Amino acid sequence: FLVVAARIYNPIMEALNNFAALIYLNVRIDRMKEMDHMPRQEGRTEFQPKNYDIEFSNVDFSYQDDMQTLKHVSFTAKQGEVTALVGPSGGGKSTVAKLSARFWDINNGRITLGGEDISLIDPETLLENFSIVFQDVTLFNASVMDNIRLGKKEASDKEILQAAHLAQCDDFVRRLPQGYATLIGENGEKLSGGERQRISIARAMLKDAPIILLDEATASLDAENESKIQSALSELIKNKTVLIIAHRMRTVSGADKIVVIKNGSIAETGAPWELEKQQGIFSSMVKAQYQNN
Ligand code: ADP
Ligand code: MG
Repeated sequence: FLVVAARIYNPIMEALNNFAALIYLNVRIDRMKEMDHMPRQEGRTEFQPKNYDIEFSNVDFSYQDDMQTLKHVSFTAKQGEVTALVGPSGGGKSTVAKLSARFWDINNGRITLGGEDISLIDPETLLENFSIVFQDVTLFNASVMDNIRLGKKEASDKEILQAAHLAQCDDFVRRLPQGYATLIGENGEKLSGGERQRISIARAMLKDAPIILLDEATASLDAENESKIQSALSELIKNKTVLIIAHRMRTVSGADKIVVIKNGSIAETGAPWELEKQQGIFSSMVKAQYQNN
């Protein structure tokens, strides 16, 4: 009888649990939006850009009135290319990445996607075009499966497992008591930094959006997992617009274009080989890292 009862009740219990988890996730996501973003104007909800080039023209931005975070920032991140943002900590790299997805509205200048001013596009509509892997991963006390599912709500379990596999999640998930059904704790506290990051990479892979933002996406991974994920990422980013922020010069040396940001302004821009020839910030960053290794 117990076995039969378990068969009957499990799917119901499972559905209830999933439902509760989804409500919880939605509440958490709404709260997260309120905290992390400045109030923004609404905008158009249909948006079909003719390409996915991102262009910053003379962008000024402040988080607070008395401090200018970005000054006259202009650059283009082209579809089909990897654009790497590098430079000293606190210079404004993460801010540039967040502004490109309209997490905040700018004070002066213009940011366009496919030639269209993003400040006229509804923030949620705009975000559908982005896969984002940030330094500070946001995870929820739901199963590994549901945390990855956030990348694409309608995804099948098979799609989720495939993305998880590509992001090198299988080995650590196998060690969890209920595998992919294991609840991972408030903000993923039961996982290591590298494991949390792999979940967020799996989420981005599942979403497979035309624009990819990677902010220190592989920073807390060991060398072996990093190189495995790099090869999966290189599949993911084909023909997309990629903005990547990384400290390891090895990670950015393959970029099509380097944008050096220092004190809120662009200090240098060009192909890696061009900047390495100049005796500038990029070439000294490269030299410093090879000396340390
Ligand atoms: P980077 O990514 O290059 O290290 P950031 O873009 O994170 O630099 O930060 C640029 C500047 O903006 C820093 O001085 C930082 O303290 C400040 N800053 C970043 N996020 C916020 C925020 N949410 N509110 C206020 N200031 C912020
Ligand atoms: Mg940063």
